[in-house]
This record gives sequence, C-alpha cells and structure tokens, in this order.
Amino acid sequence: MDSQDSRQHWSIGSFGRRVAQEGASFAPEIRIADCTLRDGEQQAGVVFTRDDKLRIAQALDRLGVYEIEAGTPASSDEDRQALEAIAQAGLKAKVSALTRARRDDIDLAARCGAWAARLSQPISAIQRASKLKLDDDAYVALALEMSAYAKDKGLACIFSPYDTTRCDLDLLRRLLDAFQKSGTVDRVRIVDTTGCAMPESIRFLVREMRKVCAIPIEIHCHNDFGLAVANTIAGAAAGAEYLSVTINGLGERCGNASLEETVMALKILYGQETGIDTTQFLAISRLVEELSGVALAPNKPIVGRGAFAHESGMVVAGLLKDSFTGESYVPELVGQKRSIVLGKKAGAASVKTKLDEIGLKASPDQVKAITEAVKAEAVTTKRFVSDDRLAALARTILAAAPSAAE
Ligand code: MN
Repeated sequence: MDSQDSRQHWSIGSFGRRVAQEGASFAPEIRIADCTLRDGEQQAGVVFTRDDKLRIAQALDRLGVYEIEAGTPASSDEDRQALEAIAQAGLKAKVSALTRARRDDIDLAARCGAWAARLSQPISAIQRASKLKLDDDAYVALALEMSAYAKDKGLACIFSPYDTTRCDLDLLRRLLDAFQKSGTVDRVRIVDTTGCAMPESIRFLVREMRKVCAIPIEIHCHNDFGLAVANTIAGAAAGAEYLSVTINGLGERCGNASLEETVMALKILYGQETGIDTTQFLAISRLVEELSGVALAPNKPIVGRGAFAHESGMVVAGLLKDSFTGESYVPELVGQKRSIVLGKKAGAASVKTKLDEIGLKASPDQVKAITEAVKAEAVTTKRFVSDDRLAALARTILAAAPSAAE
C-alpha cells in the first residue's frame, strides 16, 4: 500500500508515528510466531481437536504467519497427532513444538516432523524452586546439553527461559553468554509468564540481552494488566525480531498479546510490516472464536462486533460525511464492515440512512417523528432497534401522517 493509498485507508495524525519512531530500533524484518494452538489452548476450558488445530493452522498459514507453535506433543496423543498433521500439511509457515528439557520430549518433536523444538526451561528462582530444583550451574549446564541435543536431532532450537521477566539478570546474562559460545540456540524467547512486565521492563530486557549476545529475540507476553500488546510492541521497538501472539488474544488466564491488535498497531501506528494479510482478520477471528468456544467481547479491538458499529446521532452525522471523523482506519482493512445501529442515541441522519437502506421514503418531518419513536422504543426495551422494528415504526408513522410532497 503506497502513501497515496494509505491516506485513503487510515488517518493517524501528523506527529504520533514520528515521535514513536524516535529512539526505536525495529528489526528490518519482524516475524509473527503464532501460539494460538499451544498457549491459546492453555486458556482454561479450551479444547482443540486434531482437526480444529489443522483448520486453524491452515488459516494461520493463509494469513501469512512466519511460524506456528503447534502444541506440546508430549502432553497427549491428540496433541502429538495434531502436530504430525500440521507438520505434514505442506504449509509455508514453519512448525514448532513446545518441549521440556528432556531428551524424550525432544525426540518426540523430531519424530513428529517439527522444524524447531521450543525448549522450555523456567529461569526465575520462584519457578526453579518449585519445578526444576536446579542451582544456577546446573541450570546452564542442562540448557547447553538439551539445546545441543535438539541440534543433533536436526531441529532448530528456540530456548524459552520462562518467567524471564522475574529472573535474576546475572543468570540470564550468563546463560546467553554460554549460548553465544555454544552456537546451539537459534532464538531466545522472553516470556512474561505471569503478565507482570511493563513496556519499560521489556525494552530494558531486550537491550540488556543485546549487550551479551546477537541471538534473535522473541517476545511472549500475557495480558494480566492489559499491557500484553503494549509490551510486545515495546519489545519490537527495542529490536526483537519475533513476536509470539495469538488470535483473539486467546491464552492462559487473561490471554496473550492479540495477533490482530499487535499487527495492526505495528502497521498503522508504527509503520512496521509483518507480512500478515490483515483483511483476513475477521474470518480467522470468527474461526478461532467458534472452535475455542471463547466469545469475543463486543468492544474487542479490530475484530469485535462493535468495533465499527455507531449509534450516536452526532457521530453518525459526521461519519456519513467522512468516516475518519469517527474511525482512524477503514473497516475493510481488517475484513470488517461499518454498521449504523439505531437506539437511544439515534439522530435524524442515522434514521434517514437506514430508511434509505430498507427502501422507505420519508419527509424531514416524518424522519423526525420516526427518530423520536426509535429513541422512545430503545429507552423502553434498553436494546437496539432492529431494521424490522424500524420498518414497522416507520410504516405506522408514514400511514398516520402522509407527507404532502408524496
Ligand atoms: Mn504463555
């Protein structure tokens, strides 16, 4: 989309992008590593079958993601079969699998045809005390041993020292220095396991890691404070090459950074491309909503049913002249459509537009009377007024007071 086009597709003001780019150091290529099929399924109550996963993987591939984190093959036969099916589906996207720091997990990922093992080994003291029970020396030794093993098996190795945002920085530096020397790790993922990071702390972590090693960095954030997208973008702006995100922000507890929100903010606000076809967002969001059983909030950014719905009479009057008075980008960019909803806040311009749509002609006085009837009905029912109800109200008024002009 060239700048001529962009002027017709969004309107974001003259200074925001410029000031955001000052001091930012985005990687030349930012890649999306989707984890809907792994972390998304870890949201309490979500179950994806093997076929669900394959459908979602195919949709993600059409969307243009660089990589699909397809699951944890050691957790069940269903997960293992799903990984095999996705790895054999002939997708353009690379396919990775989450493994623990165990040879049998890595063997299984290789046997299923995964491109990479995402070696998951918690780094924070709080996680290690309850889970790995390893001291610092043993932690680094295990990481080196398992990453070398994954490479021996022909897998790429994405190392995930999870709970990174609560780690001891000296241990993280020591680990990265060891990886830099061993050459056994292709990417390191910063994981904000409990969602306690801030944009500033993610930026700090990426910069500290860069001082020690040149290994590509991925960002994986949770939304417990509503900062997952902001934190992910802060990581990208500090130079992280890979973003781990999910469709609809599906994921453990309050979810992960939403793919569609992250990609749209990067594209429209920051001017950074990710290779994603944003016009497919509505379709893939609805697919994941259906298969996950997790309904979207109506006011969910980008893909919510209310994201481009307008009711206020004053807003609609402006939109009908120039959509940028009420929206910063056009809905078609994400596969959505604008809708005008009639209710308590309706104005004559909205009612006139709706009457035109359903083919009813009314004089200005009649439009005014119909508008009053619409508002009164909305107050009584505390709901929108549907097109059918509008037609019924309008016909009653048009019959009672025929316009002289007609
Ligand atoms: Mn996670």
